[in-house]
Amino acid sequence: MMNYVSTRDREGALKIRSAEAIKKGLAPDGGLFMPERIPTLSEEEIARLAGMKYEERAPFILSKFLDDYDPDILAGYAKEAYSEERFPGGAAPLFEVEKGLYSLELWHGPTCAFKDMALQIMPRLLSGALKMTGERRVAHILVATSGDTGKAALEGFRDVEGVRITVFYPEDGVSAMQKLQMTTQEGDNVSVCAVKGNFDDAQTGVKRIFSDPEAAARAEERDTFFSSANSINWGRLAPQIVYYVSAYCDLLTAGAIKYGDPVNVTVPTGNFGNIFAGYIARKMGVPIKRFVCASNSNRVLTDFIETGVYDRNREFFRTASPSMDILISSNLERLLYVLGGPEATAGFMADLSATGRYEVPEDLLAEVRSVFSGYSSDEAETFQTIRDLFDRNGYLCDPHSAVAFGCARRYIEETADATPMVVVSTANPYKFPADVLRALGEEPRGDTPDALFGALSSLTGTTPPKPLLRTATLPVRFTDSVEPFGMDAFVFR
Ligand SMILES: *Cc1c(COP(=O)(O)O)cnc(C)c1O
Repeated sequence: MMNYVSTRDREGALKIRSAEAIKKGLAPDGGLFMPERIPTLSEEEIARLAGMKYEERAPFILSKFLDDYDPDILAGYAKEAYSEERFPGGAAPLFEVEKGLYSLELWHGPTCAFKDMALQIMPRLLSGALKMTGERRVAHILVATSGDTGKAALEGFRDVEGVRITVFYPEDGVSAMQKLQMTTQEGDNVSVCAVKGNFDDAQTGVKRIFSDPEAAARAEERDTFFSSANSINWGRLAPQIVYYVSAYCDLLTAGAIKYGDPVNVTVPTGNFGNIFAGYIARKMGVPIKRFVCASNSNRVLTDFIETGVYDRNREFFRTASPSMDILISSNLERLLYVLGGPEATAGFMADLSATGRYEVPEDLLAEVRSVFSGYSSDEAETFQTIRDLFDRNGYLCDPHSAVAFGCARRYIEETADATPMVVVSTANPYKFPADVLRALGEEPRGDTPDALFGALSSLTGTTPPKPLLRTATLPVRFTDSVEPFGMDAFVFR
């Protein structure tokens, strides 16, 4: 039986099942939920998984973590979430960009970004959790988004029974397309609001509402309770473990590697959720040798991996990869917990909230560095990478994925490590058409989706994905904008 514990629970007093952890989102002590142990995958199981489709691989792996859910129900959720209709061409296809360099494309879902991988199934997990725990109140999901989570959550939760969702995004911190995707969202249980500030302001606001007893009481009066869909929720994280296992299986099936051969993985990182899911896959037994943690100019993680000091007191940069414009990488707490235990983690997090900074001891840093290499790619390098990949390999990628490709290339050059490299590709280039055009040397004329899609399509001979074409035809429904301290009022309006 798998129990969940809090990363900050020194006494080990709290133990709950996964349905409860998914329903709560955040532990009462402010920590994040973690399974009390990491289940393993044997060679024989990986061989079996290699013969399966993604929608079958997902429940196989999820049931090891979510063992309070009926396995048949999990299989049903996965079948709906990762259907051909929702993910035309497969949920997580692996594309060989050049010999030994692969792109794990996680953007074939309804919102064209990797958040769909978790957010198509997570609402089903939550809905199931509400039933399993006998919940009668409505779950009110509050989301702070740096761009892609918001849309993916809205799309995943729209019209799901027993759930309402409110999404906050930084007013000037998302791309025009990301904004349009959210403000045109359909569904009767959704609201969207801009925040005058950056992503961290929005996230801090949401966290404040979550921990405010008065807000909880007001929610209770309305027969609702707050829950999260951010990547701190275990229901978001667990589904992300699957595509790392899946990528390894696909390399086996393609004959690119034999079982046991190591692979490296580069992950474009913001909140540290995606890369941490990969780390769990590694702990389960998938032969991943090393992770390259790829950051943009907001290189708080690069510096942490270099020095052992996590320091958010620094200049914040707005970049062409807004979903990675983050100075508080919340899921790093889970790694600290795995490597250092709850006592140390609670201490680091107390330092972080008091001073914006903490320092890990040398032995812990050495453990981090034995698995993770930190690299960052600035704007110039990222744009150059988009251009190089297109010119040399005919491969078009978005700015987030380009950060990863740039970091992967530098890692390979500097270390001469010839291990096959899987680069996690997190958004469709048509989500960021203006910057992709600029990277390819063309100044966009006009900023309507139509104009940008047309220009990118004729320049590259690629076609825009259907869901984005549709967004461009929908009316804007949401135009609210509030100061960070006005977020509570918007929630209870
Ligand atoms: C969210 C996101 C990331 C960062 O993932 P984390 O789990 O926050 O590290 C990278 N790229 C895109 C396109 C994203 O939407």
